[in-house]
Amino acid sequence: MRLQTKTVHTGVDKDTAFNSVITPIYQTSTFRFEDVGKSKGFDYTRSANPTRRALEENIAALEGGTSCAVVATGMAAVALALHFFKSGDHIICTHDCYGGTERLLRTYRDQFGLEISYVDMRDPDLVRSAIRPNTKGFWIETPSNPLLNIIDIRTISEIPHEWGSLAIVDNTFLSPVNQRPFELGADIIIHSTTKYLNGHSDVVGGAVVVKRPDHAEKLQFLANAVGLGASPFDCWLVLRGIKTLAPRMKEHERNARAVAEFLSSHPSVGKVFYPGLPTHPQHDLAMRQQHGFGGMVSFEVDGEISDVQHVLRSTRIFTLAESLGGVESLIEHPATMSHASMAAELHERAGINERVIRLSVGIEDVDDLIEDLDQALKFKNDNLSFAETPKEAVEC
Ligand SMILES: *Cc1c(COP(=O)(O)O)cnc(C)c1O
Repeated sequence: MRLQTKTVHTGVDKDTAFNSVITPIYQTSTFRFEDVGKSKGFDYTRSANPTRRALEENIAALEGGTSCAVVATGMAAVALALHFFKSGDHIICTHDCYGGTERLLRTYRDQFGLEISYVDMRDPDLVRSAIRPNTKGFWIETPSNPLLNIIDIRTISEIPHEWGSLAIVDNTFLSPVNQRPFELGADIIIHSTTKYLNGHSDVVGGAVVVKRPDHAEKLQFLANAVGLGASPFDCWLVLRGIKTLAPRMKEHERNARAVAEFLSSHPSVGKVFYPGLPTHPQHDLAMRQQHGFGGMVSFEVDGEISDVQHVLRSTRIFTLAESLGGVESLIEHPATMSHASMAAELHERAGINERVIRLSVGIEDVDDLIEDLDQALKFKNDNLSFAETPKEAVEC
């Protein structure tokens, strides 16, 4: 089966009692044993549940892995992957990673003695020179958040294997429709299913996928031991969302490209960050390594901070909210919203300045999206009526 067929069918058929076409929601904590020592394969929902199993089989198939653990949030997926390491291990991490990932790495560093280096992983030589004898992991987030820098997964993955360490890819921004890290040498893939996989902004969830049998065993052991599994209902919603993943990703990309082109020629906009634009410094790498460019677009407002606030307040279709990957378009301010939890010096190094706005481009009619941005960007003749105190920073 090809990927788009798998999204619809893999793992779904779980009801042998009544042959329901759609996976039932097995909303139960426990399962009756048929006899002492004899279950039907499920005994307790923390350990495994048929609805969750359906989603795990589905995501594992989409990524080309052998085993998947579906967990309660994307951060639970990050935490679960970090359980593959022990204190004293050194991890090299994308310098402009998701803010919550940086916050958790910092916590594990302070409390459990993980060593973390943040490196601009666009340059493999910088990665090589950051390697220590105890380097056990490479945390790759590509495209990065919010500036959509691209990391060469294959080149970085070839380094870890020389050192017997793991290459972990956060594939949230592209989904398996647009990027398949195992084909490029990655060992572990994580997802926030909250984003494109579910796609409808009504669930938080996460997934960890592995390919090696020893990793599969460790993954399932840890997911049960730590107790991170997602609820059957949430799994059911994500399974439902994934059925339309492929056509949604096409539509997100079509709209994002048009929005990026519109912004590129707008007089109130500075830099535009979208890997699908030929002007993106890593456009060629994105073409080689990805199967599509996705629906995320960031840009710098060419104006004062009050102008940035004006744009954020003025859109009518783009909703001012964190998160991404849903069918509806969102606008947000990384410096005070999604990346507010990130250490200040990392902000600066990552180039996340206060003029950067991030868009999650939805699947609405693209003409409405462009008109909405166009009217919001008309600040050049505005006076200072919008320059009141900025809203409180929001933790993500
Ligand atoms: C949102 C996100 C996460 C965290 O996922 P949650 O579901 O919010 O816990 C991790 N990585 C990336 C790239 C994300 O966008």
